[in-house]
Amino acid sequence: MRAAVERRTGNLLKSRLVGSVHIPAAIIAATIFTGCQTAPRPGAFAPRRGDEIVVAGQFVHTDTPVVLWMDPGGYDAYRVERRFSPIERSDWESSKAEVRDLTHPNRFNLRSGLTDEEIERVRGGGWDLPTLQKVVDQFVIHFDVCGVSRQCFKVLQDYRDLSVHFMLDLDGTIYQTLDLKERAWHATTSNSRSVGIEIANMGAYRSEEAKPFDEWYRREPNGQVRITIPGKLGDGGMRTPGFVGHPARPDLARGTIQGQELVQYDFTPEQYRALIKLTATLCKALPKIRCDYPKDADGKLIPHKLPDDELKNYQGVLGHFHVQTNKTDPGPAFQWDYVIDGARRVLRGGMSEAADQTSMGHMRSRL
Ligand SMILES: [Zn+2]
Repeated sequence: MRAAVERRTGNLLKSRLVGSVHIPAAIIAATIFTGCQTAPRPGAFAPRRGDEIVVAGQFVHTDTPVVLWMDPGGYDAYRVERRFSPIERSDWESSKAEVRDLTHPNRFNLRSGLTDEEIERVRGGGWDLPTLQKVVDQFVIHFDVCGVSRQCFKVLQDYRDLSVHFMLDLDGTIYQTLDLKERAWHATTSNSRSVGIEIANMGAYRSEEAKPFDEWYRREPNGQVRITIPGKLGDGGMRTPGFVGHPARPDLARGTIQGQELVQYDFTPEQYRALIKLTATLCKALPKIRCDYPKDADGKLIPHKLPDDELKNYQGVLGHFHVQTNKTDPGPAFQWDYVIDGARRVLRGGMSEAADQTSMGHMRSRL
C-alpha cells in the first residue's frame, strides 16, 4: 500500500517516516503553510486584558477592570479555608469549631432547574454557555454594609455561609469570586437563577444620625462628602493606590423601601461606571436577563418585595429587596434609571438614547 501511494504522489509529495508513523509530506507541508501560522506555539501565554469575567468557563470582556478569583489580589470563594484567619487555623475543622455560623465547607453549590441528564453532564464541571443561558435570568443587586469589598469577602467567607459572584469596590474594581455557573448563596429563592453583586456601601438607615454615617462620611469645607474608611480596616484593601471615594451625590438620598423611610449615601461614580458595563455584559452574555428593573403600571420602580408569582416570572435586573421582605438593599440611593439606561446604551454600541432615536428616525424617513 505504501509503495502504491508513493508511486501515485511521485517526487513532489515524497512520504517520510517519522518514528513508526508514516506521514505524507503533503500533510506536513499543508500544516506548515496554513494551520501553524496562527496556532499558538506550546508555552505561549494567552493574553488577558484584565477586564474579563468568567461565564461557564469562557472569558467575556466587560471594558472595565475585573480581578478574578485566580488573579493576584483576588478573592477565591472556591476555597474551603477561611481567608483572613491565622493560616494554621484556616482549615475546615478549625473553622467550623471556631465560627458557629459556618456549617458547610463549600459556600456554593449546583444550580437547580436542570434535567437529570443535564445534572449528570454538568455536576463535574462541564457547564456550557447555552445551558447556563437557559437557567440564569436575574441579576440581583446588593449593598454590602461592609463599606469595602475586602471586608465583604471576609464576612461572607470567614463568618457566614454565604457567597456572591461579584463584589464592586469603592474605586470601581469588580471582583469575581466564582464562575457564573455556580449557585452562589446571596438571595435565597433566587440563588439558582441569578447572578449576584455586592456593592461596597454602608447601607440605608431610618435616621440621619446612624452611626455608620459618622464613621464613614465626612463633609469637606467645599461641601463635597468624602468616604473615610475607618482605621480598623487599614487601607480597606483598595486596589487603586491612594483612592479617595465620594458619593455620586453629596446629600443623603431619601426614599421608601419595604414601606420604611430610609436615608443612604449614594454609591460612587466609579461604581456606577463599572456596574453599567457589567450589567450590559451580563444582559448580552445571559440574554434571559432583560436589561430592565421591576416597574409598576406607571413605569416607576416597585419599592418592595415582588409578590411570589411576579418574582417567579420576573426576568431582569432587580434589588435584593425585590426578593425578600427583610431586605432593603440596594437602598433608596441606588439610581436604577442611570444604570439601566447606561447599560442599554452600551448594548446599543455606545449611542445616546437621543442619537439612537434620531438615527432610527432617519431610517424610517428613508424607507
Ligand atoms: Zn443583600
